Amino acid sequence: MANTEQQYRQDILDVGKLIYQKGWVAANDGNISVRLDERRVLCTCTGVSKGMMTPADLIVCDLEGNKIEGARERTTEIAMHLTIYQMRRDVSAIVHAHPPVATGFAVAGRPPTLALLPEVVVRLGCVPLAEYGLPGTPALADGMLPYIPKYDAILLGNHGSVCYGEDVYKAFFKMETVEHFARVTLVAELLGGPKVLSKHEVGKLFEARERYGVKSKNRMEPGRPVVAEDMEAAEAASSDRLNLTRDELITLIEEALRSRGVLT
Ligand SMILES: [Zn+2]
Repeated sequence: MANTEQQYRQDILDVGKLIYQKGWVAANDGNISVRLDERRVLCTCTGVSKGMMTPADLIVCDLEGNKIEGARERTTEIAMHLTIYQMRRDVSAIVHAHPPVATGFAVAGRPPTLALLPEVVVRLGCVPLAEYGLPGTPALADGMLPYIPKYDAILLGNHGSVCYGEDVYKAFFKMETVEHFARVTLVAELLGGPKVLSKHEVGKLFEARERYGVKSKNRMEPGRPVVAEDMEAAEAASSDRLNLTRDELITLIEEALRSRGVLT
């Protein structure tokens, strides 16, 4: 049975409470929206804590961002939501928040794209990091454009995270996976560095999506996610250390000494 608009409104209030209680938004941060039909989007207003919203704090906009219903002002980040709805017909709900660990990765310019946890690879592929864009302006969505068609969870440079899906709870759970993954990655780094899965193992996880009923638009591609072989290649490329056998080293030293007349 299709959800009623009343239910969508309640879902937004409930998920707003959850993201506030989890500490993913401070003060009036974050915004949540649901696509009601072909031309209307229900979204949170600006200037309200997402954990303390009442039904009067929700407004309805058209797909150009013009307010149709509601007394409050629309969020300035509505343009980001509308861009996602326009590019992804399969998306019906969006959650944007600033979960602190994932946002830490975004602020550090570190995309959490390593292949570390099977469930993240299966569900999301990876979490790309979009270039910074000034919040409340069209520039915010510009950096996301390359990733929206394929990815359901994106980090926003120096800002936060946005996740989307078929309903507001699916979008919320993706945000939960992103923050959990960021926390696990951070702990692994504190413990000496994560062990990245091999290309072969990651390939098997992408194949397993069908078994788990995961519909995702991304496929395995170079660097997304980053596999063990990518790490080794990057390390080799960035390192100027020479790996020599003992005999090779002796030969090199002897040649150097001969060229300077020390050895004959
Ligand atoms: Zn934000």
